[in-house]
Amino acid sequence: MRFEFYIATRVFFGRNCVKDNKAEFAKYGRRAFIVTGGRSGRLSGALDDAIGVLDELKIEHCVYDKIENNPSLECVKEGGVAARRFKADYVVGIGGGSPLDAAKAIAVLAVNCIEPVDLFKNVFENKPLPVICIPTTAGTGSEVTPYSVLTRKDMGTKKSFGNEDTFPKASFLDAGYTESMPHGVAVNTAIDALSHAVEGYLSRKSMPVSDVLAEESIRLFGECSENLLKNSFDSDARDKLLYMSMLGGMVITHTRTSIVHAMGYTLTYFKDIPHGKANGIFMKEYLKFNYEHAREKTDNILRLLKVSGIEEFGVLMDRLLHIGAHDDLRLGKEELKLFASITADNPGILNNITHAGGQDILRIMEASLKQAIM
Ligand code: NAP
Ligand code: FE
Repeated sequence: MRFEFYIATRVFFGRNCVKDNKAEFAKYGRRAFIVTGGRSGRLSGALDDAIGVLDELKIEHCVYDKIENNPSLECVKEGGVAARRFKADYVVGIGGGSPLDAAKAIAVLAVNCIEPVDLFKNVFENKPLPVICIPTTAGTGSEVTPYSVLTRKDMGTKKSFGNEDTFPKASFLDAGYTESMPHGVAVNTAIDALSHAVEGYLSRKSMPVSDVLAEESIRLFGECSENLLKNSFDSDARDKLLYMSMLGGMVITHTRTSIVHAMGYTLTYFKDIPHGKANGIFMKEYLKFNYEHAREKTDNILRLLKVSGIEEFGVLMDRLLHIGAHDDLRLGKEELKLFASITADNPGILNNITHAGGQDILRIMEASLKQAIM
């Protein structure tokens, strides 16, 4: 056995964890730059709690609530300028993966005079500002990963950057903040978390520790699938989903994602399909593709999810994906080829447990999207 495992984030998990651990906010300086979306911070109650704690501690703060979904380079550039002007000592990201990822990019740009495209070099002259994350969705796990996923208009897809210094210093996981999620967001983000655990489990980079975390994350998704279908969550289910998502983040910190995410990014970029939903669309065909090479692990995934086989998994996914329904997804054949070729250029596909070439990707995409192809 041989592996390296490292997570640099202090995790506070539990109801009221922000208020109960306010000393953590005093550790990183006297000026906090809060990064959030237009609504998520306020609706979830997380923004009020964070501001309350900062006020109590007499820490100056500024709320920057201009983060769009799937943040672009332009969006984080503006945020970086604002954080620098504010002379921020640290950054607090509040929201779903979009604001949390933007917070990480803004923390780098606030102290490095570089263009956002240079973030992807992953080498920064000055250490990024410390980041604290407060998730309001249960999906991305961004609160425990060093990654920031940004939309690359120049490449027609999304790309991530991150290094040891972009791990959040601390994260506060209070499942109460996820209660305001609309049903579709709850489902799509849970599917994102499931895809992290499954892609990590079926990654060439998987290792004993990440496998244990992935198995537990998958099992918890299985326990909560009825809650997700029925939009009925008690406090225990909310906790489990947030915990599942955190475990998924710890998994991909070590294994990265692979072909499901790479395919999904194109649907998000070109068709505006939410991230988790875009992943979910490809999961059944992805499992089928990998089955011969990872029988034991795939059977384990199905067992943990309490489904009888890949077909029943597909039925569960279809029911869930229907909830996060989106405007008609219609693709031309040429469009599909373009998406497959952009996916094939994504180095993330090399993480898949077995080699997936351009034709394999095209076939998986075709089979997954057959009802949408015109
Ligand atoms: P999101 O894009 O952050 O949010 C989706 C929508 O849900 C937004 O409209 C948001 O509102 C709303 N929302 C969030 N929390 C809410 C709450 N508690 N109550 C009501 N509305 C709420 O969604 P996400 O799926 O969490 O994040 C997706 C992003 O994360 C993608 O860019 C993806 O690529 C990235 N990602 C990152 C990692 C990583 O390791 N860093 C891993 C996977 C995915 P607002 O508009 O107000 O924000
Ligand atoms: Fe994801």
